[in-house]
Amino acid sequence: MIEKNERKALLKRDTYPDNPPEKPENPPEKPDKPDNPEYVNCDPVVDGLLGLAIGDAFGVPVEFMSRREVRALDLRDMVGRDTNPGFQGRWTDLIPSGAWSDDTSMTITAMSSIIEKKGEIDWEDIMRKFDDWWIRSKYTSLDFPFGLGSNVSKAMLRHQNGVPALECGGKGFRDNGNGALMRMFPFSMYCILHDFSDLETLSLIRKAAGITHGHEINAMSCYLYTLFLDQCIKLKSPENAYRIISDTGRQSEFMHIFSEEAFKAHAQVFELGSREFNPDSIRESGYVVDSLAVSLYSILNTQNYEDAVRMAVNFGYDTDTNAAITGSIAGAMYGKSQIPDRWINTVRKKDYLIQIGEQFKAVVANRPLG
Ligand SMILES: [Mg+2]
Repeated sequence: MIEKNERKALLKRDTYPDNPPEKPENPPEKPDKPDNPEYVNCDPVVDGLLGLAIGDAFGVPVEFMSRREVRALDLRDMVGRDTNPGFQGRWTDLIPSGAWSDDTSMTITAMSSIIEKKGEIDWEDIMRKFDDWWIRSKYTSLDFPFGLGSNVSKAMLRHQNGVPALECGGKGFRDNGNGALMRMFPFSMYCILHDFSDLETLSLIRKAAGITHGHEINAMSCYLYTLFLDQCIKLKSPENAYRIISDTGRQSEFMHIFSEEAFKAHAQVFELGSREFNPDSIRESGYVVDSLAVSLYSILNTQNYEDAVRMAVNFGYDTDTNAAITGSIAGAMYGKSQIPDRWINTVRKKDYLIQIGEQFKAVVANRPLG
């Protein structure tokens, strides 16, 4: 087991820096236009969860490195203390290759609660199970948890002190880390599998974010992620999916649903589809809108799972979370067959993840996707 002081060091920061970093010299390449890929035997729930965990594990070794540092590595394989003993990363002296972090742990924690409750969402139980993860090392890729963010940590503490689950998320502007978006996948899939209306989806997503992140900006980011994921699964075209969630009609809808502050905060999300958009204008941070922008941009400007996840990691800083969010969408849309074998063979507890995905689908999916 890992020592207490080491565990403290494993806490991560999921707020964002006060000052935007310098722009790196080499922005990622932007292909002309993504083609419609072929999709064979795609299972959005299981493949999306695998995609999330593999993205997380691929990004872990370079977490908190700058964009410039990560790009210089040109990372293609999962690395860790077992494969690359000399690798100088935040975690590499502690974490072996293929280990996924808080992003995947908190995702499967929520899925496990929904499975145990036979398809019902019990917010109090989910918060209690987050304690099982962090305090009792359940739902982990190794024998200890790592990567807990500060916003999430505060929310868990509030719950331990008796605050109702749905009121635990911080509501200040600086509480807008990406710790809700990184674990939104099961709640988004819950809405998609039940074919919820926009209003029903918004209501559930707001609550799902709110247990750890109660600000309107977080609700909007998680809602946009859900709409984009839904359209990517249904249309199998990132371009068309993005067009649907970002057209002017939809934007005016969002202006009425969300606060002016939240809508304005998402300006870069609505600009990233433009040919003039400079991807290096997205800050290196753990700010929820930046992570959403990285993920959408990476999906829109690649044509397969591997390229999407590698592009997300090459944005630097919160590499595991950005790759987890990107990987969940890419996995759900492209399917497991597009995930490189070398990553599938390295990720920890693959069979456990597949089992959770299958069980989640069985309790939740009462209608076919269409
Ligand atoms: Mg993490």
